Amino acid sequence: MKFKTVIGLEVHLQLNTKSKIFCACSTKFGAPPNSQTCAVCLGLPGSLPVLNAEVLNKAIKLCLALNCEIADETRFDRKNYFYPDLPKGYQISQYDKPVGFDGRLDEIGITRIHLEEDAGKLIHNSPKVTENSSPSLFSLVDYNRAGTPLLEIVSEPDINSPEQAYDYLLVLKSISKYLEISDCNMEEGSLRCDANISINTVDSKELGTKVELKNMNSFRGVQKALEYERKRQEEVLERGERVIQETRLWDAAQEITLTMRSKEEANDYRYFPEPDLPHFFISEEMIERIKVEMPELPKQRQKRFISQYGIPEYDASVLTSEKKMADYFEQCLKFFNKPKIVSNWLMRDVLNFLKIEKIDWEDFSLAPQDFTDLLKTVEVKEISINMGREVFLEMLKTNKKAGDIIAEKGLAQVNDERELAAIIDKVIQANSKSVKDFQSGKEKALMFLVGQVMRETKGKANAAVVQKLLRERLRC
Ligand SMILES: [Zn+2]
Repeated sequence: MKFKTVIGLEVHLQLNTKSKIFCACSTKFGAPPNSQTCAVCLGLPGSLPVLNAEVLNKAIKLCLALNCEIADETRFDRKNYFYPDLPKGYQISQYDKPVGFDGRLDEIGITRIHLEEDAGKLIHNSPKVTENSSPSLFSLVDYNRAGTPLLEIVSEPDINSPEQAYDYLLVLKSISKYLEISDCNMEEGSLRCDANISINTVDSKELGTKVELKNMNSFRGVQKALEYERKRQEEVLERGERVIQETRLWDAAQEITLTMRSKEEANDYRYFPEPDLPHFFISEEMIERIKVEMPELPKQRQKRFISQYGIPEYDASVLTSEKKMADYFEQCLKFFNKPKIVSNWLMRDVLNFLKIEKIDWEDFSLAPQDFTDLLKTVEVKEISINMGREVFLEMLKTNKKAGDIIAEKGLAQVNDERELAAIIDKVIQANSKSVKDFQSGKEKALMFLVGQVMRETKGKANAAVVQKLLRERLRC
């Protein structure tokens, strides 16, 4: 049987405003529990929410970046459900009047972008049960996160593979970083993603039964959960059975999905308009003002890199995929205006280093000036490119400057032809057979002699110069 896959994604993005969506409490991550709360975000009776204007600004920025229609009138609704991390018994969200709708991110449609408040966080204790004690189980609740502004970005079911879902998330994150509207840190929960996936046979006109997936905590986790689920559903269909409509949880340790609840238990949220907040009108003037504030986005920057710096399209797309990397590239060019060389080093050595050490661009601490000082010494052949790579790693390890490491380790290349000539004479004398071989036409013998000179100089000679000198010497 041949199958087709249909995937939709729901991303929750925490906005990086200083204060919460409906009160003045701080949104800073990591503060002591319940130290950033007030009557509004604790849902105390009689308190009234007031919309943080900056939240709406940031939402409109993302709507513009994702080519959405922007509502001229938007409204908040109450989503009613009970959970201990939700003190009011309802979440203020948006239902039928979201800020943005009908957008597009590359080939994938964006159904809607809406605002809502985040819930608090439950911390479950898991005491050790011993022979003599049976400690009580309890949960603590921290309301610091309650009321943090969230943007929910719902995609159309236009995604056809887990890999494409992964790419979509990367691009969405990249754009949000360029817009500086969110930290997009999945570990701190500032970016979360739920997925839905349905499978059907290729010739079928209808969509398959939709299964929702939750609890993925990395982009790769989303991809793996979808891959697992695609295979699981294909096997169900191949057995001639039906896929059950349900919500399943991703278990990252076991790399499987498990049933969480079936549709019968699905919540009815009884949405109704939030009576404590007015309707908000988004004027053309407001949109125009925000358009002026919009930064250059990845695609635009990629085009500019190609035309301004003459680097290949591939380089430009890699360099602009992360704002910090693109910024770093441009800072380097101020000190060393050789775009292709800088690009090569960033794409090869720096990215490799970050990958191996599992470090984000944000935490890459080497100053552009120090980095380009190293590239300059390689450029003028003071050291070879291979040594340059060693020095680069040493710089990151020791925080020393390139010049100091080269001096300390005596790495500078021997370029002085007189100094080299003496060593070459020595090698020629000691290897008369190879000399004869070369002179009788065996090119390989020359490479052996070059190798001997490199050994004598502990690799510090410039191999091209050595070859040139040897040829001169042996031809006469
Ligand atoms: Zn508050």
